[in-house]
Amino acid sequence: PTTTRTGEPAEIDPDEMDPDALKVVLRLHQHGHQAYLVGGCVRDLLLGKKPKDFDVATSAHPGEVRAIFRNCRLIGRRFRLAHVYFKGGKIVEVSTFRANPTELEPAAAGVEEGQSGEDLLITHDNVFGTAQQDARRRDFTINGLFYDAAEGRVIDYVRGRRDLDERFIRTIGDPEIRMREDPVRILRAVRFAAKLDLDIESRTYAAMEGAVEDLPRCAPARLLEETFRLIRGGVSAPALKLLAALDSLKILLPPVDEYLRENGKEGEKTFYAFAQALDKRVSAGEVLDDAILLAALLVPISRAHPPVEESQDEGRASVSRVIEDLLAGFVESARLPRRIAERCRMLLLMQRTLSGERRRKTGAFRRHPLFNEALAVYAMTVEATDEGREALEAWQAGEVPPPRAGAAGGADAEGP
Ligand code: ATP
Ligand code: MG
Repeated sequence: PTTTRTGEPAEIDPDEMDPDALKVVLRLHQHGHQAYLVGGCVRDLLLGKKPKDFDVATSAHPGEVRAIFRNCRLIGRRFRLAHVYFKGGKIVEVSTFRANPTELEPAAAGVEEGQSGEDLLITHDNVFGTAQQDARRRDFTINGLFYDAAEGRVIDYVRGRRDLDERFIRTIGDPEIRMREDPVRILRAVRFAAKLDLDIESRTYAAMEGAVEDLPRCAPARLLEETFRLIRGGVSAPALKLLAALDSLKILLPPVDEYLRENGKEGEKTFYAFAQALDKRVSAGEVLDDAILLAALLVPISRAHPPVEESQDEGRASVSRVIEDLLAGFVESARLPRRIAERCRMLLLMQRTLSGERRRKTGAFRRHPLFNEALAVYAMTVEATDEGREALEAWQAGEVPPPRAGAAGGADAEGP
């Protein structure tokens, strides 16, 4: 690794820091507050990667932040955060130093917000604290590093530097407690391990195994959101393998769990080939919406199950029952937008026409608003399975592929 003239390990080059985030930090300093860049941006710069966003932690309370920046809005009810807006839609997130209430005496946890006993549980994670407490309430040591922009140095309250150098993901504090306290951290550890190619430290891993049974107690919306973050990050294959090894897919994606159990080695090969085809596109910078991401992962499961009989479903063309149920469940309990679920369902349904299993009026089919998206999903299928290449090329060339033997539906059936 590169070293500075004094022989210390190379620190962060201030030129790599986002200038707007630096402005926010300096303004807070001018008003007499402590302020640091924190979390993912410090971690990523030390790993030589480009940060996605730049977050600031400060001793200033949300109201004080609000008063300092004109281009600022407070968001969140429980965690009051400040969003400072810059040109081009850029947002610098500014959060007030907070303590992990489980590390404090219960009485102390309530005092600051003037709450009484019962309310403690709901609001207790909004207790303000010191910079050090704020570092310690974070999930992993690699995410607990602060960058002092004035001094140009990294402040490490949690031994995150060592773990970054040794490439380990380790919880801050007791792994059992930290995982039980918020089992969503299982998915976060998996994401960082897959995305940054780090190992999970063994006690942290054991605690993740132990906390899997607590996943159903998490808000479904948080679980789905962290699952999407894995897929959007272009690491669905390695991440889902880790989640399968932790036996957590039965909770997160039951039909995927069932598919992997029922289809053995072949099923694994097929499923992860789809995930890899998807990851390849995401990593290449293709912007795919959540409906396409989800559909691409669900194609092998959709293909393994017969569709619901159309007559049973009031004439509405349907995909497999397991997929219908999964999507409906996400909409009902995990706040998946109905529009995304419907697009995903439609994309899966259209795969059957693209593969030639189902015959539709091709003119209308091509004009379907999701035709190009459906074709992109089909291209991933071809890549993952190495089947159906002629059909894909025909569709891409604007031709109609020959029907497949045993294709369902009349040649002029309506609908997608
Ligand atoms: P990415 O670059 O993928 O966004 P990140 O580290 O910025 O990674 P975020 O989810 O944006 O991750 O969270 C920002 C920071 O907030 C984290 O670095 C971590 O310090 C803290 N954090 C987020 N979620 C949790 C959690 N569930 N428990 C404890 N700390 C958390
Ligand atoms: Mg982030």
